[in-house]
Amino acid sequence: MKIIDIRTHVLLDPGFDVGATSSNQDAIVVEVLTDEGITGIGETDLNAWIARACIEAPGTNTMDRGLKEMLLGRDPLDPVARWDELYVGTAMTGRRGALIHALGALDIALWDICGKAAGVPCWQLWGEAAHTALTPYASLLPKAGGNADSFAQTIVDQAIWAKQFGFRAAKLEILTEGPYAHEDVSGSDGLMLETIAAVRRAVGPDFKIMVDVAYAWKTADEVLRIIEPWSEHDVFFLETPLWPDDLAEHRRLCERSPIPIAAGEWLATRWEFLELMDRGGVHVVQPDVGRVGGLTEARRVCALAEERGKTIVPHGWKTGITVAATRQLAAVSPKLVLFEYVPPEVAESPLRRELVSEESEFSDGQLPLPHRPGLGVELNLEALERFEAAALRREQR
Ligand SMILES: [Mg+2]
Repeated sequence: MKIIDIRTHVLLDPGFDVGATSSNQDAIVVEVLTDEGITGIGETDLNAWIARACIEAPGTNTMDRGLKEMLLGRDPLDPVARWDELYVGTAMTGRRGALIHALGALDIALWDICGKAAGVPCWQLWGEAAHTALTPYASLLPKAGGNADSFAQTIVDQAIWAKQFGFRAAKLEILTEGPYAHEDVSGSDGLMLETIAAVRRAVGPDFKIMVDVAYAWKTADEVLRIIEPWSEHDVFFLETPLWPDDLAEHRRLCERSPIPIAAGEWLATRWEFLELMDRGGVHVVQPDVGRVGGLTEARRVCALAEERGKTIVPHGWKTGITVAATRQLAAVSPKLVLFEYVPPEVAESPLRRELVSEESEFSDGQLPLPHRPGLGVELNLEALERFEAAALRREQR
């Protein structure tokens, strides 16, 4: 089998808000076409125009080749070999960041082709199932603005909703400090503690609560002082309390924290995860299947995390393609105990709701192991065209 073409689609939510803190308003989707009529799809999570440039830019020398150029004419049925070629062939521009994120979309599409060609879901190409069913968690992002009381109450209401919807776990996005601070809620340590305590009272003991503060603080001492009283409310992990580049501070925090520390949503490649685990000492790693470099690299990260006894809880804030890819990864990864999941029927983003046809399989807080060939989802072409037209209008503005 040979790759004969790669189509990149830049997509935008027609109602996007440039002031919103959500990476789910745009998407880059790739279609990898083969000479045998099988097409694979993939996506990744970064600015969609930059991703397209990373894929389509022509190469200029042997260590700065084009991703698309390198793949044309190659065999799609050996994604690991393709990944290694693309990583080395783009090393002068790539190795980390945007180019690896873009490579991730292509890699996911290659695995989709492999599964479709074999007539099995991708995970069955990798080994035995590690779980009988998969457990996603809800991310609760309050929209209430104005004052602290309505902020806490909104998260409590959302947590009650998540439990009633069937979720067994939810993450409270308490984004009142740091670069993600929004909704004009002035952050206070007391408000955070009150919100966590109120949610725990509302959902009872048999429900996992996580907290994401999105890079709110600068030092381990500051984090430890604030979170010390949280531990009595049984917080499963605290996500990204510190800026991701400061690994020394992560190490100081992780050695003393009463709550497991989670990070990794922005990282690219196993090399960055090795630093995060071995130098930073984090307890929970959060690869995003696209950003980390695709399913090939996500599986390598899971293997390294499992060797180290780390828990794996992937990030996923994109369309149904990322959801489908994350489910494949989860199926074979024993330490992957939860993953981020927005059910399409309640998603705010039309890209999440409409881009792929997806059966609603969420029941009793779980999703079954994927069972259809490849990733198991197909593009809704009407929605693709509509989102592509919105991106074109933005480009021409
Ligand atoms: Mg986060």
